[in-house]
Amino acid sequence: MATAPTIRIGISSCLLGRKVRYDGSHKRDQFATEVLEPYVEWVPVCPEVDIGLGIPRPEIRLERGADGHARLVMPSTGEDLTDRMVEYAEDRVRRLLELDLCGYILKKDSPSCGMEGVEVYDSDGVPALEGIGVFAQALLRLAPHLPVEEEGRLNDPHLRENFIARVFACCSRKERESAAAS
Ligand code: SF4
Repeated sequence: MATAPTIRIGISSCLLGRKVRYDGSHKRDQFATEVLEPYVEWVPVCPEVDIGLGIPRPEIRLERGADGHARLVMPSTGEDLTDRMVEYAEDRVRRLLELDLCGYILKKDSPSCGMEGVEVYDSDGVPALEGIGVFAQALLRLAPHLPVEEEGRLNDPHLRENFIARVFACCSRKERESAAAS
């Protein structure tokens, strides 16, 4: 009997209820943990824990640098974490792609995981909703064909349906490629 293909999806760890946020809390997402859970194999990733920031940890945010680019900064210490996060993210995403992911769900608004509209603070401390999380940037750049969404956008029925359709299409394509190669 044929076995169902594994639908492997990357996800920001806090969305699965893991207490990895800066304040030791989680952001458990009902759709992911109750609707999708029976059908998928999660690959949870918390970039901030992975680069060694610990739990709990001081808040970090995106700040507009003198060159106009957004930097990942810990305001309480002034530490610039951008290079550390970019180096980690590029390596982690490449290793994730070896797992044949069929999709990814990111945590919205996060300076690491947010896919769009993340606060970027200017030198006066005024935020503009125009940033992309540093880990999310690497994911979107290195995996341009991977279906990626944020948990907030998945509350929209049309975006949700579209995401699920793209995940299944990606999964089917990988199955065909795998069969053709064997
Ligand atoms: S949003 Fe990303 S970095 Fe922040 S706690 Fe969740 S998984 Fe970790």
